[in-house]
Amino acid sequence: MSKTQNLMIAVSKGRILAESLPLLAGLDIRPLEDPALTRKLILETTQPGIKLVIVRATDVPTYVEYGAADMGIVGKDVLLEYGGKGLYEPLDLKIARCRMVLAGPKKEQQINRRLRVATKYTRTTRDYFATQGKQVEIIKLYGSMELAPILGLADRIVDLVDTGNTLKANGLVPLETITDISSRLIVNTAAMKMKHEQIKPMLERLARQVGQ
Ligand code: AMP
Repeated sequence: MSKTQNLMIAVSKGRILAESLPLLAGLDIRPLEDPALTRKLILETTQPGIKLVIVRATDVPTYVEYGAADMGIVGKDVLLEYGGKGLYEPLDLKIARCRMVLAGPKKEQQINRRLRVATKYTRTTRDYFATQGKQVEIIKLYGSMELAPILGLADRIVDLVDTGNTLKANGLVPLETITDISSRLIVNTAAMKMKHEQIKPMLERLARQVGQ
């Protein structure tokens, strides 16, 4: 099979895209336009036929699972929540590293009811407390989880932590690490078979770049 098949790679804007670009450059894949400056969502690259598509982080697994994109780069936090089965996850790219933590107020109030935990990671949080045999009330939020304990909406939050500055600025402290997070390369299962000749060397070069 020819090595010049079209290949769509889904990436989300922000830290993951910024840290992915040097890895892609290592495969001689460079966007022809600066993703930070253009409003285009599909970017041509220096490799004819290989395109980058910029989507929301939580949408990356969906595009890849359904084959709208052949490959994607996405945080393990998103994959844990997505829980889809139609994806290969062949490589830990070791970028955008952080921790998913349970955090709470520095000064704890007495809690005489079931613990309330606010998070956008409801599935991962439910699984985490289930393995501990603890019953908690999980409150779904879509952002700014740090507000929830301040306003009395929840006793704890589950969120990503990098430097810890955001928690600290809001009077919160990390209590338990749920899991370490980094970005993963994901591949559509059909694309892995149909475009194997093209994808396999890319995986091998990426693996060497990230020291695997
Ligand atoms: P920090 O203040 O450095 O601990 O960063 C915490 C904030 O950045 C939180 O709002 C997190 O949701 C977000 N954050 C940190 N690391 C990541 C990451 N690797 N991917 C996505 N969001 C992150």
